[in-house]
Amino acid sequence: MVDAEWEADRALAQAVGVEWEADRAQAEAVVVVAESAPAMDAAVVVAVEVAAAAVRASRSRSQSIRITIASGKGGTGKTTVAANLAHVLAQNGEDVHFVDCDVEEPNGHIFLKPDIERTRSVGVMTPKVDRELCTGCGECGEMCQYGAIVVVKKTVLTFPTLCNGCGGCALVCPEDAINETPREVGIIEEGMAGKVRFSHGVLNVGEARAVPIIRELTRSPAGKTVILDAPPGTSCPVVESVRSADCVVLVTEPTPFGLNDLELAVGMVRELEKPFAVVINRADTGDDRVSDYCAEQGIKVPLEIPDSREIAEAYSRGELVAEAIPGYSEGLMKLHEFISRELQA
Ligand code: SF4
Ligand code: SF4
Repeated sequence: MVDAEWEADRALAQAVGVEWEADRAQAEAVVVVAESAPAMDAAVVVAVEVAAAAVRASRSRSQSIRITIASGKGGTGKTTVAANLAHVLAQNGEDVHFVDCDVEEPNGHIFLKPDIERTRSVGVMTPKVDRELCTGCGECGEMCQYGAIVVVKKTVLTFPTLCNGCGGCALVCPEDAINETPREVGIIEEGMAGKVRFSHGVLNVGEARAVPIIRELTRSPAGKTVILDAPPGTSCPVVESVRSADCVVLVTEPTPFGLNDLELAVGMVRELEKPFAVVINRADTGDDRVSDYCAEQGIKVPLEIPDSREIAEAYSRGELVAEAIPGYSEGLMKLHEFISRELQA
């Protein structure tokens, strides 16, 4: 649901006197209950009708979807699927925004070749200790879960690259000895790749925290269809890339390693309660264990991509496979139709 819709739903909930909760799923439930409530006085009925009309108008105007393409491990062809899906949809008239969330090793630009139009800095607030005020009590070190501030023999040491900018240490300091100062952790670059809106983040060398850049990248992408290319794995940056998605596509390959990492990725998306499906890449290699696992688990597999020398060659040349190989686009359009039909809430 987009923000305009969220505001309209909130107005509706308030119109019927229901206390508002900062939870979108709950908001949807409130709207359903409010719209079907049998006994409301006349003024409330009018308010509900006005607000409900606003909700419906807003929904029809702004139906958009965020799809995260993820994989339990690197090398499965995740970025190939994500970049080509964005390209194919744009070629078919969709308003698409490709967001490369793999800020430690972004490579979507290699295939989409965007013209970068804007660059902006991303920073986190990190602690600076006033040694005149500090008593060495140690409370800041006990507070920090990341080892970014420690107190040794009443001396405070800070490790800025480990800090995620939560502000907890400054909050607990009894002497007000901690000030927070901004520190750049990376940049975001934005532009156009043909008809595709493009954004990616680049983590500064030596930085350990990718999440602040991913959070900024996923804050407000434009486009009716937003494709988020997640980093590989199931760690915090991946969770951050999945958190704001409406649905997830997990790309895997039919090998024992592929199955092991797919199981981890499935656990993650289930924990985050996201609808998802699986794409099996190089489907005619390896064995049947990934297919069997998906069948056992009731997981849909809307696309299987065969192993192909032509695909590998296009990839190695940094080309979009959809441009290099006739027929490749059709599978991606079918994947998008499946997502629209079965995964979009
Ligand atoms: S909490 Fe404040 S006073 Fe205590 S050690 Fe940390 S900086 Fe110093
Ligand atoms: S801001 Fe948060 S992460 Fe950074 S040092 Fe303080 S407590 Fe640790």
